[in-house]
Amino acid sequence: MIPVSQALDALFALADPLGVETMPLDRAVGRVLADDAVARRDQPPFAASSMDGYALKRAEADMHAQLKVIGESAAGHRFEGRVGAGQCVRIFTGAPVPEGTDMVIIQENVTRQGDVISIVDGPNDSDNIRPAGGDFATGTTLSAPRILSPQQIALLASMNIAAVPVIRQPHVALISTGDELVLPGEDPGPDQIIASNTFGLRAMLENLGCIARVLPIARDNEASLRMAFKLAEGNDLVVTIGGASVGDHDLVAGVAADLGMEQSFYKVAMRPGKPLMAGRIGDMAMVGLPGNPVSAMVCGHVFLVPMLRAMLGLGHAPAPRARAVLRADLTGNGPREHYMRAVVEAGEVTAFDRQDSSLLTVLADANALLVRPPNDGPRRAGDSVDYIPI
Ligand code: AMP
Ligand code: MG
Repeated sequence: MIPVSQALDALFALADPLGVETMPLDRAVGRVLADDAVARRDQPPFAASSMDGYALKRAEADMHAQLKVIGESAAGHRFEGRVGAGQCVRIFTGAPVPEGTDMVIIQENVTRQGDVISIVDGPNDSDNIRPAGGDFATGTTLSAPRILSPQQIALLASMNIAAVPVIRQPHVALISTGDELVLPGEDPGPDQIIASNTFGLRAMLENLGCIARVLPIARDNEASLRMAFKLAEGNDLVVTIGGASVGDHDLVAGVAADLGMEQSFYKVAMRPGKPLMAGRIGDMAMVGLPGNPVSAMVCGHVFLVPMLRAMLGLGHAPAPRARAVLRADLTGNGPREHYMRAVVEAGEVTAFDRQDSSLLTVLADANALLVRPPNDGPRRAGDSVDYIPI
């Protein structure tokens, strides 16, 4: 058995960085930006009015002053002339501020008769002008790598960047193993249960921007498992679920070895999730997860997501942790790192009483994995502990 950190390093070593492709902006959300994006223009490209009103000289904007309206500047249509003494220009939000003016008085602060305005309410300090380049200037960068958010897509559009280089999406094949499993929606026999792990993991990986496929369930015989591995060919990563222990029907390690898997490790000092294996089959990375539903999902958070983030060029980092204060005492931990299902609320963390690795109801109610280091002593309410938000 190896510690979690060592297993994670081995997974990073298996995570070959993926190539880059160009993606139009309207399909780039959630993708990993591969190169810094550089603004090609200033925004706004000219000093622009932020209000509807009249552009004039601040020096002339006295209470009761009267000014002649000599033209109009609207969004997309600037006023071409120059504004002289005693003059102003009708202006609208987003329109270029005319030459010879340095402020916009809002229309609520003037009365207008014909082409003459009178200032009836004192102008305040604001000039109501957005300076040229006030949002960003040519050369401003959005740095890579990062997962593009809707807000950043808007920024890239504003920078006049129509397509971006992004990291190719990792292709992941998910294989459930077991004679007892049927797919959700099917009619289970009396000894059967529904395969849940592949669906939970698929959701987790698709959230990260992977293309995850649930392959047909492999039955507990070598031919079926071989067939499933065959179907997985061409993916970046194949993940098996179950069949990874040492029972008579646990065939994954044997079949993978027959297929030429170079094994990186087998068994990790953690709870849940001990019978974890990983290696490489040809060009494909392979991870064998334990079958118990909670084990599989915990291993997904602790191992698969960091590994796929590494493939996506987002660095080699474990699942991010935070700290919270224990609400109740905890007994000492054994020699394996324990990822306890827990709820964090208002800075306090509470571990569930029931920690069996088959209980999806408990996992579904959890928003955190409370991390107990190996051989951690008893902990008192009020102690600060690590957790992984999930
Ligand atoms: P195994 O590692 O194959 O012995 O599986 C351990 C436990 O997890 C058994 O109770 C299996 O029925 C269950 N299990 C295995 N694979 C899945 C799956 N894909 N979905 C739900 N339960 C599973
Ligand atoms: Mg099994």
